Amino acid sequence: MSKIKILDELLSNMIAAGEVVERPMGVVKELVENSIDANAGRIEIRLINGGLDYIEITDDGCGMDKRDATAAFSRHATSKISEVNDLWQIRTMGFRGEALPSIASVSKVTLLTNDGSDSTLVRVEYGNVVEAKPFGAPEGTTIRVEGLFYKTPARLKHLKSANVELNLILELISKMALSHPEISFELSNDGQIRIQTNGSGSLQETIMAIYGVGVAKKCIAVDFEDYDFKVSGYIVHPAITRATRQYINSFINGRIIKSYQIQKAIIEGYKGYMMSNRYPIAIINIEIDYKLVDVNVHPSKWEIRISKERQLYKLITNGINETLKREMTPSDLLIDNLTKPQQAVVHKEKELLEEIDLFSYQRQPILGSIQEEISGYMEAEQTHRFTYLAQLHGKYILASDEENLYIIDQHAAQERCMFEEIQNQIMEKKVVTQHLLLPLVIEVNPAIVNQLDLINEQLDCIKLNFEQFSMNSIVTREVPYFFEQIDEMHFVQHLINEILEDKQMSRIDIRKEKIASLACHSSVRFNQYLSIEESKTLLERISKCKQPFNCPHGRPTMIVISEKDLIKEFKRA
Ligand code: ADP
Ligand code: MG
Repeated sequence: MSKIKILDELLSNMIAAGEVVERPMGVVKELVENSIDANAGRIEIRLINGGLDYIEITDDGCGMDKRDATAAFSRHATSKISEVNDLWQIRTMGFRGEALPSIASVSKVTLLTNDGSDSTLVRVEYGNVVEAKPFGAPEGTTIRVEGLFYKTPARLKHLKSANVELNLILELISKMALSHPEISFELSNDGQIRIQTNGSGSLQETIMAIYGVGVAKKCIAVDFEDYDFKVSGYIVHPAITRATRQYINSFINGRIIKSYQIQKAIIEGYKGYMMSNRYPIAIINIEIDYKLVDVNVHPSKWEIRISKERQLYKLITNGINETLKREMTPSDLLIDNLTKPQQAVVHKEKELLEEIDLFSYQRQPILGSIQEEISGYMEAEQTHRFTYLAQLHGKYILASDEENLYIIDQHAAQERCMFEEIQNQIMEKKVVTQHLLLPLVIEVNPAIVNQLDLINEQLDCIKLNFEQFSMNSIVTREVPYFFEQIDEMHFVQHLINEILEDKQMSRIDIRKEKIASLACHSSVRFNQYLSIEESKTLLERISKCKQPFNCPHGRPTMIVISEKDLIKEFKRA
């Protein structure tokens, strides 16, 4: 007996849904792509509970007539292609005619659409059209999705928390907005606006809305092409880096593409300008003849196939590298410094971050006896007493004790002291804080704002606690006292990246190591000329360190010359 059956439409839609709409983010992606294809100038995304309970997308696009409004829910119903040849030159986001029937097979969908003559409402519940009638609606289309996966428990079980789902959507819409600066995007969750772009067509303004003004001000335009490819967009100055590749955006003909190779080509372009294990921020648009790309490779269209791909990678790497070479001043070329955490870089970054800090506020600490408290705390145990002798070249301190002469590298010694002092404060839960008259505002991307609870939990050990300030900034009014000595923007942004990257940060010993080392790296005090009093204080501090002879990065802090060495050198022995 024959066993093969043709699947009924609902079943095949549900199977397709498994690939196309795995989670709320997939639904949002398909619906927003439809709005883009409908030539929308404005797209609003409203979510409840990270999209798990409710997703609503409204656009001001071309809308559908009453026939199409129902036909759109049939499998393989599309207005975008009609013959095989169309498949080889797809200019729209969609073309498979799968999204609406797939989504409607696993949820309750309400469609409201107006094409300028017809105004229609269609309701579909888990694959069945339950209502279709004329209904007043503004021009454009609204699609509501509720009860997603309620009837597909296996899928429901695999969804993550509302927060995780929301983050994926925030990330997606950030990229959508960056790939379409001519469209105004607004995303809200539980009534709170999380992303908003103006649709002015300016990529730089969109970058500002998504990544903040600091990043936008450090954008360098790229524009290069060869016979087959045209590359444009912005790369961000290598002084601003991130701990993940997530900020490297590549779009091909307006489509968000996940391509390891293209990311790699972009990172390669920054070679010589960026520390290893740091990643750039870049927004790269690639235009290719539609015939040279096959977008029909992946059901959710994250991946595509490109002809002459090696040629494209080379073009990207060289183009970015040449742009950086041209745009960066000689003092930017700190390759040796960039590979090692040295003072030159710290200062460079400080300068840049200062320059880009629009919220540049004068912060006045309300300080009482905090200074005394700290020095009192350091009085604890004394192990070694140096006698101060002199300063050398503004970089070294000469000191002695009964036996030895010490030449101390001021910068390395400061690093060691700061490192151990912060570690001790964390371990002994003695972090001294100060209240700020003017709050500290830090720019971050919208997805980070959403994870504040997790971040605050980790930052609790240095008594830092942030609140949301705007869609892409966070704020605090109390900071650890050691913030006086560091570039707090640099420190907080890097620390947050580390927390979100490195799950192990939940272990206090790793956390204290990372926090102290990041603080050293963000210090702005190193390499300053020290007065005699300050030199003496530094000698006292270093004498209390557990490992006074090396800086946290392993370089020596001091050279010791014993009396024996002197006798030998002067040939008195
Ligand atoms: P595809 O996008 O691959 O064509 P979909 O299932 O996503 O398939 O959509 C089916 C059809 O419904 C589209 O081809 C389009 O004609 C119509 N459609 C869907 N969403 C919209 C919208 N927001 N505005 C106008 N038409 C739409
Ligand atoms: Mg579509």
